[in-house]
Amino acid sequence: MRCLAARVNYKTLIVICALFTLITVLLWNRCSSDVPLRFLPRSPPVAPSAKAGDASITSQQQQQQQQQQQPPQLPEPLPVAGGWVNYEEIDCLVNDDVTIKGRREGSEVYLPFSWMEKYFEVYGKVVQHDGYDRFEFQHSYSKVYAQREPYHPDGVFMSFEGYNVEVRDRVKCISGVEGVPLSTQWGPQGYFYAIQIAQYGLSHYSKNLTEHPPRVEVYDTVEEDDEQRRDGRASGSAPWTVAKGCSLSRVHDKARATAVRQFSAPDASEGVSLALGNSKDFILSLDLKFTSNGSFSVVLETTEKGPPFVIHYVTNTQLIAFKDRDITYDIGTRTTWSTLTRDLVTDLRKGVGLSNTKVVKATKIMPRRVVRLVLHGRGFVDNVTISTTAHTAAFFAASDWLVRNQDERGGWPIMVTRKLGEGFRPLEPGWYSAMAQGQAMSTLVRAYLLTRDQAYMAAALKATGPYKTASAQHGVKAVFMNKYDWYEEYPTTPSSFVLNGFIFSLLGLYDLSETADEKQGREAGLLFSRGMESLKAMLPLYDTGSGSIYDLRHFILGTAPNLARWDYHTTHINQLQLLASIDNAAIFKDVVKRWKSYLKGGRAKHN
Ligand code: CA
Repeated sequence: MRCLAARVNYKTLIVICALFTLITVLLWNRCSSDVPLRFLPRSPPVAPSAKAGDASITSQQQQQQQQQQQPPQLPEPLPVAGGWVNYEEIDCLVNDDVTIKGRREGSEVYLPFSWMEKYFEVYGKVVQHDGYDRFEFQHSYSKVYAQREPYHPDGVFMSFEGYNVEVRDRVKCISGVEGVPLSTQWGPQGYFYAIQIAQYGLSHYSKNLTEHPPRVEVYDTVEEDDEQRRDGRASGSAPWTVAKGCSLSRVHDKARATAVRQFSAPDASEGVSLALGNSKDFILSLDLKFTSNGSFSVVLETTEKGPPFVIHYVTNTQLIAFKDRDITYDIGTRTTWSTLTRDLVTDLRKGVGLSNTKVVKATKIMPRRVVRLVLHGRGFVDNVTISTTAHTAAFFAASDWLVRNQDERGGWPIMVTRKLGEGFRPLEPGWYSAMAQGQAMSTLVRAYLLTRDQAYMAAALKATGPYKTASAQHGVKAVFMNKYDWYEEYPTTPSSFVLNGFIFSLLGLYDLSETADEKQGREAGLLFSRGMESLKAMLPLYDTGSGSIYDLRHFILGTAPNLARWDYHTTHINQLQLLASIDNAAIFKDVVKRWKSYLKGGRAKHN
């Protein structure tokens, strides 16, 4: 035993000696060289060697070259918890299929994120946080909103205060004649799409409730106190400039019972213009009535160098045009009084966006200052203001468009062909969408609640029409498995059962049944409860166990499921959260909880 112990001690001594030598060598290396101990690429970069045949190199130059030929010094290593790290490259064979390069550190293996990103459809980037870099990983890219409880038909619509409809690429512009967006989603020529228009209205309605009230700068109301206010400020100098050959006078408008400005400015003249104080707010509003062909133009200083951009609002046949620095919008004839409210940021950017040239960076241009307003032709003007926002005006532009454009069957026909995909017959122009009907109802009900104007209520009530008619008979109603009524976003043959459009159609029915009086609202109430019954029964069909499904084509056509991308998945959750705030059925709470977990990589249990 003693003999064995002596041998062990002898071995231990050798090991200690060897370790001591190793540490000494390591420390010596560390002191004599700045090259840190860490994972190095297998072939370190080498500086180009001196050209062969270059005989006239002095010894000093040779010395410099030798210095240059040293491998470039690497930066100091970052401190790593637990000491120096040592990675080595390792081949990773994926699914017996391809080999990629990974890294091994001890028993841990790391795969490149650029590979993981594609393989798992996950998201991540290095970002600055508290002054240092860190990698932020996301299982999904979309966020769920917090539902205000409970939902009310006169409140914020779902999470629409965060929607910016007019900014979307598929919005060609805000029509100068109608004051609502024009869509290019399924037709490049542009068409009025009731869903987009209702969403434009609902988003501005919701922003109006959630944002600060606008700052409004009044430039001219043409009233007495207006003149006095200005006299006190600028010693009587009116901010209007009347060019040669033009005229401007203050007159009383009997019908409107207010003072207005009458102007006359030949097209060839420099016009009658109002300085707009180099305002940095960009919503222009004015009351206008032309007695001849007329126009108003807004001069904008922008982020682009060179002369200012000018937006012309004219009587024209062309919706929108752009040439050089001039953007033109058709505003119709305007021979009776109307209020025009224009978002100059949107009007500028949509105009410049028409350009095919790279001269102007369409996505980057922004107005800096509103310089002046210029009038041409003959007519009257009043109430010129500039404000930070005008959500109410946008909301009523949408509501009024819906009232004006509803057809005799209560629908808003969509005038483009819509192809949902192979296996579905294309929808020919003139089809109705349950989603359009529902979103329009939600808009109209809010307009009614603000104004108590029966025209809005009547249009909302009439909008239930297509819900009662089968898709095949130009309605939007489908029946699932001969049992469950479903209102279709796309009334295709065969039926497609798109989930999010159906829920929007239900929300419209809810808003209407809650707002109309008992007798008038009964039908909407019945349609709503029939729909809710279907939703509760069918919702599980849209659950993959790790995400949700957009429609039921996998069942109807027997094809692969049409999985909802993350922003549709969060729309589903936002909608169900809203429903959970008005209906306490357990399925809504359970599904919301589970579907939210999918956003962070949660999965249903397997067997
Ligand atoms: Ca006035």
